[in-house]
Amino acid sequence: MNDQELKKYLQAKGNLQTELFTKANKLREEYIGNDVHFRGIIEFSNHCEKNCDYCGIRSGNKKIERYCMSKEEIKECLDFIDQVKYGSVVLQSGELTSPAAKKFLLEVVQLINQEYPEMGITLSCGELDSRFLKELKEAGAHRYLLRIETSNPKLYEKIHPASHSLKNRIKTLENLKKLDYQVGCGNMVGIPGQTLDDLITDLHFFQDLDFDMFGLGPYVIHEDTPLGNSKNKKWWVANKEEIFNTTLNFIALLRILIPTANIATATALDVFKPQGRVWALKAGANIIMPSVTPQKYRDKYLLYQDKPCVDEDPTDCIDCTIEKVKMARLNPVLGKQGNSLHYKNRHG
Ligand code: SAH
Ligand code: SF4
Repeated sequence: MNDQELKKYLQAKGNLQTELFTKANKLREEYIGNDVHFRGIIEFSNHCEKNCDYCGIRSGNKKIERYCMSKEEIKECLDFIDQVKYGSVVLQSGELTSPAAKKFLLEVVQLINQEYPEMGITLSCGELDSRFLKELKEAGAHRYLLRIETSNPKLYEKIHPASHSLKNRIKTLENLKKLDYQVGCGNMVGIPGQTLDDLITDLHFFQDLDFDMFGLGPYVIHEDTPLGNSKNKKWWVANKEEIFNTTLNFIALLRILIPTANIATATALDVFKPQGRVWALKAGANIIMPSVTPQKYRDKYLLYQDKPCVDEDPTDCIDCTIEKVKMARLNPVLGKQGNSLHYKNRHG
């Protein structure tokens, strides 16, 4: 598909959007089938050394109460994932690079590997150094999710403090590839100032770096952040419908461009429509990530405003997510890791 076509489809609505989703679904069926796999996500800590301008748990947000779950609490979540047979866990947190934080994360990964050897392990803990990523890999972590946010250096600079580096983010992604992780990337669609050309560049970036997994979602305003100022909020509210549609179109295009990749449906889509995640599955996503974070921590992990499922408990999320998969007329699969076929093919 050339850039002109990509641009046309990114803006697709009505019949053109139906045509796009049909194309994406045909390829999904052909390459990976209609199974949807689960990842129970544990947002185990909201401490973060970084200060991204869009994120509600940035270090500069002094309004929130910080937490880090104990190993025992994480173990309870893992028992739950094991019992309900999600098959995989995602450990997500703010970015922490202190020796104590690294030791803690390593011990958690070791615990999972020892106690739940069948469980898939994805980490999403920011830009960690290569030596530590190697240790985590050796301890049993085998997937890593690190969004690029935007591949446009100018836009990246605009939404991050000067100390944050796009180059380092790309370097980390390259390190993850070298270390043979299943590597996931993604962006935010609808960042104030982002153009359709930026999104096309993101698609090319994803193709060029040949990622195995994607976890991308719409940008959602957070008022206690610099990017969530009143001017941007006004713009965001007025453009919600378009941001939602463009995110779905982006997912469908990714499915067409990289048909064997695992693509997750983002919870942030439910901010826009009650069945937002169902729409992403209809557009080409094949992974759903029910929250396993204990209810008492959920309102402290608000990366963005109006986050769904904050009042729910992990038990509420089982039937709800299974139902969403069925609503998309896809097949919910429990008890399997659901690794990326793209990764498998890369290894012949
Ligand atoms: N600290 C790690 C993982 C947690 S943040 C990291 O940054 O990689 C996970 C993702 O949340 C980020 O990559 C970002 O894309 C997303 N996020 C943060 N703030 C957001 C917002 N306001 N709207 C939508 N997504 C947001
Ligand atoms: Fe920290 Fe990640 Fe939020 Fe940036 S996006 S402030 S690294 S949690």
